[in-house]
Amino acid sequence: MPPQRPLSNTLIDQLPAAERARLLARAERVPLHLMDEVGRAGQPAAFAYFPIDCFFSLIHRLDALTVTEVALVGFEGMLGCELTVATGVQPFQVMVQGSGFAWRVERAVLLRELANPGLLHQQLDRYMSVILRQVANSAACNLHHATSARLARWLLMSDDRAGSDELQMTQAFLGSMLGVRRVSITEAARLMQDTGLISYRRGTVRILSRAGLKAAACTCYRADRKAYRELMQ
Ligand SMILES: [Zn+2]
Repeated sequence: MPPQRPLSNTLIDQLPAAERARLLARAERVPLHLMDEVGRAGQPAAFAYFPIDCFFSLIHRLDALTVTEVALVGFEGMLGCELTVATGVQPFQVMVQGSGFAWRVERAVLLRELANPGLLHQQLDRYMSVILRQVANSAACNLHHATSARLARWLLMSDDRAGSDELQMTQAFLGSMLGVRRVSITEAARLMQDTGLISYRRGTVRILSRAGLKAAACTCYRADRKAYRELMQ
């Protein structure tokens, strides 16, 4: 994904001017707040979201107590790829993980737009492959990589998409998203603080050294970025 801070949505920015204007004329810029639930697994999706400076967690729920985050969607992509297939049913629960704004588009509007020959259709086809790759990476990552390396990956992925230098989260939530015990997250976060990679205070993480986090992160962080560059070209 692009390294710069989000000021707008990359997929929309890349559209030819006429196509972009047509889509935005039918889109609504909406505020989204931390932990808002914008989608439920198994339910039909009514809207697509093109994040501007917010980002979403895609969460797979095994049972009432067991959830795991499988992908993040921010300004580099679109939430709602399932809208473009026949069922229109959401495969994941979706929570707002970083507050901010997004362009919201009704399903019918998106489908009408995709019926036109244009770049958006190609982009969303490619972006669906990006999401599939991220979900596959996350499944393997959860099995094979150490908690500290996965935490570093998650912090970098979130920081890439956030409109702020600060990330709001609790260690309990992080443990739940990464599928590990809270004490494991506490230990990994403490080590990162001791080595000057992050500060953590009252549910707010500030990243102090991206270079240090990149060195600490598992290979999945670079793999996700490489997949985005290759698939979206
Ligand atoms: Zn990994």
